[in-house]
Amino acid sequence: MLTFENQTYRYMKIKLFFILAFLSFGTTFSQTILSPAEFLGYEIGSRFTRHHKVVDYFKYVSSTASNVKLEKYGETNEHRSLCVSYISSKENIDNLDAIRKDNLSQTGIIKGSAVNNKAIVWLSYNVHGNEASSTEAAMLTLYELITNKKDWLENTIVIMDPCINPDGRDRYVNWFNQVKSTPYTVDQNANEHVEPWPSGRPNHYLFDLNRDWAWATQVESSQRIAIYNKWLPHIHVDFHEQGINNPYYFAPAAEPFHEVISDWQRDFQTQIGKNHAKYFDKAGWLYFTRESFDLLYPSYGDTYPTYMGAIGMTYEQAGHGRAGLGIQTNEGEVLTLKDRAIHHMTTGLSTV
Ligand SMILES: [Zn+2]
Repeated sequence: MLTFENQTYRYMKIKLFFILAFLSFGTTFSQTILSPAEFLGYEIGSRFTRHHKVVDYFKYVSSTASNVKLEKYGETNEHRSLCVSYISSKENIDNLDAIRKDNLSQTGIIKGSAVNNKAIVWLSYNVHGNEASSTEAAMLTLYELITNKKDWLENTIVIMDPCINPDGRDRYVNWFNQVKSTPYTVDQNANEHVEPWPSGRPNHYLFDLNRDWAWATQVESSQRIAIYNKWLPHIHVDFHEQGINNPYYFAPAAEPFHEVISDWQRDFQTQIGKNHAKYFDKAGWLYFTRESFDLLYPSYGDTYPTYMGAIGMTYEQAGHGRAGLGIQTNEGEVLTLKDRAIHHMTTGLSTV
């Protein structure tokens, strides 16, 4: 027999069910983050993204996801923003400064006995402006990390700088957009594959920012080094591109190594290289290691971090200012921007 109390109880239970259902729908809804393609209105790799739109996407993600925080650390000579995004668990993001200080105290740079047990991985993209697939890859990597790879972030802080050299990148992208044919042509002799001087590689004053890490003569470097040294990450990756006929390069680097590089650092970069190889072998993508790209000169984006105690590495995808949206290599394969971006996303994720 249904008493009045029973009926009230049942009514409350039904009401509670609908409230919970609504709340969980609300949570799911508020956590839906647009992919780069949904945000930009085109697939990554179908065109080059101008720098301000890349910054817009990183800003959008940090304002939507509670486990991502954006920090502007400077400006270029042409007043483009330099910024990094911190990507981790929400708990780590809420605790970011304490983790940073624990890490510095562990290195002995600041006083204290704190121990840091979070891995800190720093990914730097597009230091050479016309090696332009990596900034596209940065957006894919960010999205992948906060959606499908969220579990990886519990004990890891990923710091992403989506573009170290925005003035150079936009110089390349603006030129490309002005001369490209529609649809793009894969003929190596086409105008869109012959970038004129000074190219997008250097910064506003035509300095090569990948020769400036130690000397920091340029505003991009001096502002970046200031924030880099506040963190001293454990891993640093510098994303590049090489000639269109060299498929992909990753660690281990070429011998001889500088004598300050420890056996532990040598071994660690080899382990990371082996991890990349697993993904590349599975997908049937070509790559090489050790043949070139040394760790001697101290002002590269791999050596400076290495000499500061990190595992510093350069990754080189086939492409460069020559490749455009698609180009036929000497072997007759078509190398596309989409493939270039996916390869760089894969090594970025494999590193994390
Ligand atoms: Zn480069």
